[in-house]
Amino acid sequence: MTVAAVAGMVATVAIPAFAAADRGDVAEAQTLQQASADDAQSLVVASEGSPATLERGGYSATTPEEIKAAKAKEAAEKAAKAALAARLASASSSSSSSSSSSARSSSSFSNSVPLVSPGSGTVRRPLAHFNNFGTPYAGHKGTDYMVGRGEPIYAVADGTVVASSESGPGWGVYVKIAHNIGGVRVTSLYAHMDWGTRRVQVGDTVSVGQLIGQVGDTGRAFGTHLHLEIRINNGYTNAESWLQANAG
Ligand SMILES: [Zn+2]
Repeated sequence: MTVAAVAGMVATVAIPAFAAADRGDVAEAQTLQQASADDAQSLVVASEGSPATLERGGYSATTPEEIKAAKAKEAAEKAAKAALAARLASASSSSSSSSSSSARSSSSFSNSVPLVSPGSGTVRRPLAHFNNFGTPYAGHKGTDYMVGRGEPIYAVADGTVVASSESGPGWGVYVKIAHNIGGVRVTSLYAHMDWGTRRVQVGDTVSVGQLIGQVGDTGRAFGTHLHLEIRINNGYTNAESWLQANAG
């Protein structure tokens, strides 16, 4: 076989194989999700009371294969617990896409995300960091912060959650919080969160810097980013300018 023939074969095989693997991942994730959903209750009970079992010394296994299997089991339990938490967090939502959303959330809803932002002050930035701003366009009422999937999003101030949904109009998964900042009525809206990552429900009281969700690309979004809207006394303001003027 010639080199060209091999290259041609690689090209024709590799592309559909990659696409198939991509879909396979989703199918596998859903299968695992369903499997873990069935076992979630017992797995949570089993893993919750004994964090020490995560330690190497906690395993009764002795061979490398057994240790590897035990670690895989721990990872599955952790994923199941996270998936259950995600489902509970969205349980009061009337979204009809809960099954697909929870399946997709398993990779992004992580217990390792810090629950509180590193900032200080009455007003804080919603992201610990971001790459750059999205390109502004006519009719756009928010500021886009380009950042990778799963980045934690924090409340910009103390407040009360007034919207928390997986089916916002263009916003996808989003949260809206009402604040009273020095007597001024401010609302903050965080859009395009990843499926299943909302940590708050309508009516929840949140503190400044509290984790409320994670970055995704749900709704009308091209690429993962946070779309942040700030309204003062019901009028839109430039979110980034407001942060620069107020965030500590
Ligand atoms: Zn935007």
